[in-house]
Amino acid sequence: MIEQLNPYQSQAVTHEDGHALILAGAGSGKTRVLTTRIVWLIQQKLISPHAILAVTFTNKAAREMKSRIAAMLPINVGGMWVGTFHGLCNRLLRAHYRDANLPQTFQILDNTDQLAAIKRILKAGNFDESKFPPRDVLRFIASRKEEGLRPDAVQAQDPYSLRMVEIYRLYEAQCQREGVVDFAELLLRCLELLERNPVISQHYQQRFQHILVDEFQDTNRLQYRWLQCLAGPRSFMFAVGDDDQSIYAFRGARVGNMVDFERDYAKGHVIRLEQNYRSYGHILNAANALIANNTERLGKNLWTEQGEGEQIRVMELASDHEEAQWVVDEVRALIRDGMSRSDIAILYRSNAQSRVLEHALFTSGIPYRVYGGLRFFERQEIKHALAYLRLTASLDDDNSFLRVVNFPARGIGARTLENLTDQARTYSTPLAQAVARVAGKAGSSLVQFCGLIQRLTEASRTLPLSELVDEMIEVSGLRAYYQTQRDGSERLENLEELVTAAKVFEIEQSFSGLPAGLTPRQINQNSPDPFEQAPAIGQADGVDEALSPLVAFLAHASLESGDAQADDGTQAVQLMTVHSAKGLEFDAVFLTGLEDGLFPHENSIHERDGLQEERRLMYVAMTRARERLYMTLAQSRMLHGQVRYSRASRFVEEVPPEHLKWLSARAADNVWLDLAPMSTATSGRRSSSGAGFSQGPGATTTMARGVEVGGVQYRAGLQVSHPRFGEGTVLTVSGAGLDAQAQINFADVGVKTLALGIAKLTVL
Ligand code: ATP
Ligand code: MG
Repeated sequence: MIEQLNPYQSQAVTHEDGHALILAGAGSGKTRVLTTRIVWLIQQKLISPHAILAVTFTNKAAREMKSRIAAMLPINVGGMWVGTFHGLCNRLLRAHYRDANLPQTFQILDNTDQLAAIKRILKAGNFDESKFPPRDVLRFIASRKEEGLRPDAVQAQDPYSLRMVEIYRLYEAQCQREGVVDFAELLLRCLELLERNPVISQHYQQRFQHILVDEFQDTNRLQYRWLQCLAGPRSFMFAVGDDDQSIYAFRGARVGNMVDFERDYAKGHVIRLEQNYRSYGHILNAANALIANNTERLGKNLWTEQGEGEQIRVMELASDHEEAQWVVDEVRALIRDGMSRSDIAILYRSNAQSRVLEHALFTSGIPYRVYGGLRFFERQEIKHALAYLRLTASLDDDNSFLRVVNFPARGIGARTLENLTDQARTYSTPLAQAVARVAGKAGSSLVQFCGLIQRLTEASRTLPLSELVDEMIEVSGLRAYYQTQRDGSERLENLEELVTAAKVFEIEQSFSGLPAGLTPRQINQNSPDPFEQAPAIGQADGVDEALSPLVAFLAHASLESGDAQADDGTQAVQLMTVHSAKGLEFDAVFLTGLEDGLFPHENSIHERDGLQEERRLMYVAMTRARERLYMTLAQSRMLHGQVRYSRASRFVEEVPPEHLKWLSARAADNVWLDLAPMSTATSGRRSSSGAGFSQGPGATTTMARGVEVGGVQYRAGLQVSHPRFGEGTVLTVSGAGLDAQAQINFADVGVKTLALGIAKLTVL
């Protein structure tokens, strides 16, 4: 076991004199060293498995660690203290529930439960929810707990903070009354238990002779204090981490813990591992070069014996849609060449990006699994939105009715709903039909809700599907609701992505009435105007109700959320955010959406710390790949039904060109503006410099020739008019078919990028 390690790794595994800090880059074997050390302690040092405590960050990592230990040792690892911070705290609190002043059966609140609890308090105490948005209250409470502060200890002077503290106090009392704890409470309560009960803490300090922590760079202050509490005078702490992979600052993670740990415990016992065993040279050196742009690093080198390997393949595509298709085509090729599906990962920066990728995988019939996050159509906000749409299609859908009748809150309480359910049961009608039987104020709130849905149903007869979805998000109050939530922005992004999904569905449907065998692209080239030829969507006359676009879209949503998810046992391509990929590795990694504003995320670009954290995230992403790394980007991406144009991520440019193999023309070569009408001179210039511009499958970028959509030849210089934006000049055109789009300089509103198939343009 030890023989397989390099000298530094085995030094770390067999370290004997005191605490140690293993500071090392990605893929250098930190996790392997930690696991091997546990086995070595048990086998060679005859340490009882009960004397060992090991903490990791995710349940998956904890499970993996246990199974690795089990594979090396004939012991029952089930009882070992190997787990996440939350898991281990839970265990301690269950064992000492009386001292922790909790019922033995205390329940753990997840985020949604916690919000509901806060709302009840705000309501009971007559707090104005607009002044004290429940999400803000939740963040406030969580942050105070992460600082270890109970209400009495919070320093508050101004009236607003004083009120917040008051809510915090009420919240605590309510949780205590109801016997529930939230996630932050698990840790804080456990810490207090240990700090206040010398008997208990001494017991554990004596018991845990070895405390091992993986991913130490992502611990927060409270977690560090917790570890300090458990470590007794004769315990040894063993922490492994990589400051370059610290990606949870937004949740209070503190890289400074590594510096403190060295000072407090591991002085003179810092071991660096510099050999990387995971990735080939090009991948590793590219990641090293990227992270070198960060400052204030603890500094380390990483090298590999594995040879150069392949360069990173970079592909720029015209749209997110083509990007997803291209990725899926590559995935299929890799599988055909013998790579196992579960050795392939597709990573993205934000959850909303998964939808387009999921769709492409689903259509291709490739099993996939989304990790550490829900699949698009299973996310809470999407389910709420779909419930509204289902009701719009049929007011009798009781499940959907119950889901959203009081979401966002409209003062329809549990008692009213009970009453309504009774009425519906008595008269055997769907809930909506029993509404009239509920009297009083509650009754009129219910009537109002039904009115809202009926107006949407009316609108569904005339509005195109995507506009209906947009309208629903607005009038239901979902948009306003998530706008007021401090961390609602991701949910808003997802809702907007639903509008995009509806738009795409709309366009696809509009082609489906055409002769079989014709692809949209062929149609686009052959017919004068496919968008006019197609049956108008949402028009009531002649359209069978059951086949309305709305109903068809809902069926599509259910199907997409139903089958494609692979069972646990099935080999599946792995989809996940970069955050959830921490610590994992794959033969092939696709890093998608490498556009400025997306990755680095637009919220981070203007702050130095924010950008550095994004860069660490990029470093984590790149170093997940063993053999092959792809980086893909899309020139345009449809967000909220509007096309948005981006340039390549600055992170792509930070990678030295010798590590990259551009499969499309380099992104930088594609940036051009041409105000002049098309001329032979222009196309000549372009064909010499832009060779390979349209190499990607389907990337039929036709800038020089112009693009034909609906019988109109769009090209630079063309004068057009738009019903909203007024008159303008076409600057660039690109894509074809569904993806055809133009940048247009409008006299009044400036440059906009529009999808030519959708925008209602008139040629002047
Ligand atoms: P990360 O920073 O991403 O968490 P890590 O430092 O924890 O990475 P590991 O996951 O432990 O790295 O190891 C990376 C890969 O290298 C694993 O597949 C591991 O089995 C392998 N590896 C580590 N050390 C050796 C070694 N001495 N010989 C062969 N393979 C090794
Ligand atoms: Mg690791």
